[in-house]
Amino acid sequence: MERCDNRKFDEKRNVKITRNCLLYADGSALVETGNTKVICTASVEERVPLFLKGLGQGWVTSEYGMLPRSTQTRKPRESARGKVDGRTMEIQRLIGRALRSVVDLRGLGERSIIIDCDVIQADGGTRTASITGAFIALTDAVNKLNEVQPFAVYPITNYVAAISAGIVNGEKILDLCYKEDSNAQVDMNIVMTDSGEFVEIQGTGEQKPFTRADMDELLRLGEKGIRELIELQKETLGESGKNIGRRES
Ligand code: UDP
Repeated sequence: MERCDNRKFDEKRNVKITRNCLLYADGSALVETGNTKVICTASVEERVPLFLKGLGQGWVTSEYGMLPRSTQTRKPRESARGKVDGRTMEIQRLIGRALRSVVDLRGLGERSIIIDCDVIQADGGTRTASITGAFIALTDAVNKLNEVQPFAVYPITNYVAAISAGIVNGEKILDLCYKEDSNAQVDMNIVMTDSGEFVEIQGTGEQKPFTRADMDELLRLGEKGIRELIELQKETLGESGKNIGRRES
């Protein structure tokens, strides 16, 4: 089977992360994974949701959206339809959970970081690209706070990134583009940290059930891709990533 971009089964798409792509956000990154392009921003607010008030901890949350012409046929704006659809809800909660898993919310203090992921072009893997890019925006926002007033304990504990893997025409492959995704028998989204621990695995037998052995192989592919993505995040952040995982002041 010929893959999009003529890739090998275990080869991810070319990824480019443009840090600080926007002027006003506390952190921002444009992430391009092949033809998928997502703008990720991080915004600091000096308050927490009501349910956390007075508990001495912060919050990280996310919203996700696709621009009308990010897709092959125009997708109506959710604002025009007056409600957020189930897919959007599922994806934005996934992004929020992924980022919270690497943030020490107590260390962050009573403030919120809101992550916005806006897809400007979709070719599969928008949720995983969002997580990988949002981590860069989040780190820049946390570093800005750290410059104003250094944290006693730096609140980002690990790098985190995400990628998809799946079974298409009986073959296990890494990082599905839309064409591959829409033909997938099994589709999996994997979120993992730099210590090689899983944060979330969304695996679905879309056209057929899959075995434990299939799953192990897909996770292996995902792990390879995520290691490469985290290398890129480290390169992108350079010195700005030096406090990640630092536990003492
Ligand atoms: N897609 C689309 N319109 C939609 C939803 C999805 O064209 O309303 C395409 C888009 O290319 C997306 C792909 O289908 O990237 C796969 O969608 P999925 O819901 O699996 O999420 P993703 O892989 O983007 O995280």
